[in-house]
Amino acid sequence: MTSVTNLGFPRIGARRELKRALESHWRGETDAAQLQATAAGLRARHWKLQREAGVDLPPSNDFSLYDHVLDTAFLFDAIPERYRALAERDPLAAYFAMARGLQKPGIDLHALEMTKWFDTNYHYLVPELHAGQRFALRGDKPLAEYREARALGIETRPVLLGPVSFLLLSKTTDGSHPLDLLDALLPVYVQLLTALKDAGAQWVQLDEPVLVQDLDDAARAAFERAYAHLAEAPHPDILLATYFGALDDNLALAAALPVQGLHVDLVRAPEQLDAVLRALPAGRVLSLGLVDGRNIWRNPLDNALILARYARGHRGDGPLWLAPSCSLLHCPVDLTLEKKLDAELRGWLAFSRQKLDELRLLADALDGHAGTEAALAQAREAVEARRRSPRVHNAAVKARVAALTAADATRATPHAQRLPLQAAALRLPPFPTTTIGSFPQTLEVREARARNKAGKLADADYEAFLERQTEQCVREQERIGLDVLVHGEFERNDMVEYFGEQLDGFAFTGNGWVQSYGSRCVKPPVIYGDVSRPAPMTVRWSQYAQSLTDKPMKGMLTGPVTVLQWSFVRDDQERAQTCRQIALALRDEVNDLEAAGIAAIQIDEPALREGLPLRRAQWPAYLGWAVEAFRISASGVGDATQIHTHMCYAQFNDIIDSVAALDADVISIETSRSRMELLDAFARFDYPNQVGPGVYDIHSPRVPDRSEMVDLLRKAAEVLPARKLWVNPDCGLKTRGWAETRAALTALVEAAREMRGEAVAA
Ligand code: GLN
Ligand code: ZN
Repeated sequence: MTSVTNLGFPRIGARRELKRALESHWRGETDAAQLQATAAGLRARHWKLQREAGVDLPPSNDFSLYDHVLDTAFLFDAIPERYRALAERDPLAAYFAMARGLQKPGIDLHALEMTKWFDTNYHYLVPELHAGQRFALRGDKPLAEYREARALGIETRPVLLGPVSFLLLSKTTDGSHPLDLLDALLPVYVQLLTALKDAGAQWVQLDEPVLVQDLDDAARAAFERAYAHLAEAPHPDILLATYFGALDDNLALAAALPVQGLHVDLVRAPEQLDAVLRALPAGRVLSLGLVDGRNIWRNPLDNALILARYARGHRGDGPLWLAPSCSLLHCPVDLTLEKKLDAELRGWLAFSRQKLDELRLLADALDGHAGTEAALAQAREAVEARRRSPRVHNAAVKARVAALTAADATRATPHAQRLPLQAAALRLPPFPTTTIGSFPQTLEVREARARNKAGKLADADYEAFLERQTEQCVREQERIGLDVLVHGEFERNDMVEYFGEQLDGFAFTGNGWVQSYGSRCVKPPVIYGDVSRPAPMTVRWSQYAQSLTDKPMKGMLTGPVTVLQWSFVRDDQERAQTCRQIALALRDEVNDLEAAGIAAIQIDEPALREGLPLRRAQWPAYLGWAVEAFRISASGVGDATQIHTHMCYAQFNDIIDSVAALDADVISIETSRSRMELLDAFARFDYPNQVGPGVYDIHSPRVPDRSEMVDLLRKAAEVLPARKLWVNPDCGLKTRGWAETRAALTALVEAAREMRGEAVAA
């Protein structure tokens, strides 16, 4: 008998119920009990849904009020000193303070650093540890959620982040190695596992996704020590879950750990099956990740069935589980709620619920149940129909990509020659100030958009409304005294969706939400066909905004890699190819902006780094085509046109040469949460072009004052020549309110002025 299992279910709710509950709690409209009740309701609904879909042992503790890495840190009492007092008084408030920062009279707490979860667009909070750190169990979240499911009559498999991944995903504040804390950490895992066993849990899932990355000897030794230690005490059977890639050189290590089951990702790495089958001891449970937890295409079940049958043949009667490749956290909830897509497209897709159905069907087919043939045939037809559909192919686009040459990806002269022309055209002072693009998307803006979408606000009235918003935004920026202005992006719902909606080859779901961080969700576009730009996309707004002011107006585009990275991408051609198609569409837009008199154009690539393959050996190939795509989009302009780019939450150390190879005239980056640590890479590498290190953490409602920003700028000026520095926030301001934005940007402009005084004096 083949079991169907699942590594994690989306938390946010099919209608983003968790988002709403969190945000009203943060606004003070609901208390903790009301928030917890919504959370419990979602958990119950999701467990039931998974049971109905035929999942044998659904996961528990995969739910989180904000982030599962933060949950883990909190659970093990890895709470930095600054939150301690609050944590004793009000644990939930402290938890949210760690996630979002907290500022109110008498309290001023910075949030933890946030970064991407492997190569996904999910962000986790980076635990802050230090040498001598003590761990203890705080609360009983995994136990409580296990019991909660049990009370509903549902047996679950609690999910925990494994000890080695937990430590490797953490950072220390004192330069010590997080793995040095392993011995201090393990007793707490033992205590927790024993408690779960006592509570009746048969299985526990320990996620160790770092096993698909390059590990050094210390990390490999940590795995051996950790799991040997866990094996000694009473514990539920342990499923060691690996995902997002192949185990490769870590396979022997993983197979030898004293655990009862191993999950492997056969979507990203189907080729590893044979080696896994040979390495895995008999009797160990093998969980096959056969259905893509990261994408929304219907599974070509025939291929999955071949892999499953092959595994079954090798394992004989040994236990075999079928699962999604990874947690379904990265996939929307339920396709049946999807009303926006046309029937043809919908027929090509599967969301979380449908993926579980696919797995059930695979398991039944594998076990030879009657009646699976028709369903398999139907799946086969859907996949074939997509392959054949004329909507997927555009010969002109394919020809244009084929004709690309190196010259198309190169600007006419080097940056050093371009810069004086640009400085003259833009009339820039030292330490020029700018923002990253978006301004507050107030309730008013979102409501107007929603009413326009619903047909309740006429297009002309909506346009007029947006023009008023843009004008107000321009006036505000003038009042504040910024040097390079932006139009504010009020017309945009989302930085990728907005472009995708105007490009051919993209489709949009009405309800395909996935969690980005905390309560933030995104609805990734679906790239199903060849991409092209039927008409200009942003020119009208940039031109209008520029007409209102003498200050330079920066054009604002989302770069090809980010569009690719934040979409559900077609799986029937190389990603590099799809990326080049997007780059050409953007190149047309960049050229049109320039022709319309826009002298500075920002091409955002916040997702450049998260696209990095998890194995170093695959980096050069990725970086090669990613950098090329950016340059294709940026290289059609004249020397005097200044190309900006922007990245956030990126560790630049190891890709700084590729960041330089983008050859953007100015790059703005997130640095304020890490207190300028990220700049070291730019300094060491002697980054040739201009840099705007973020001095205002926009992911937190905290308003920094001038002296704080001056401190950060001085730190920046210690490692980079002052003449290369720009002054800007960490990222766009769309999630912030106007009052805090105004206050922070006023302080930011004052900080730049103070620096200019210093720079002149120096
Ligand atoms: N221009 C975008 C904005 O300001 C950039 C957002 C991002 O980097 N994620 O919102
Ligand atoms: Zn950003």
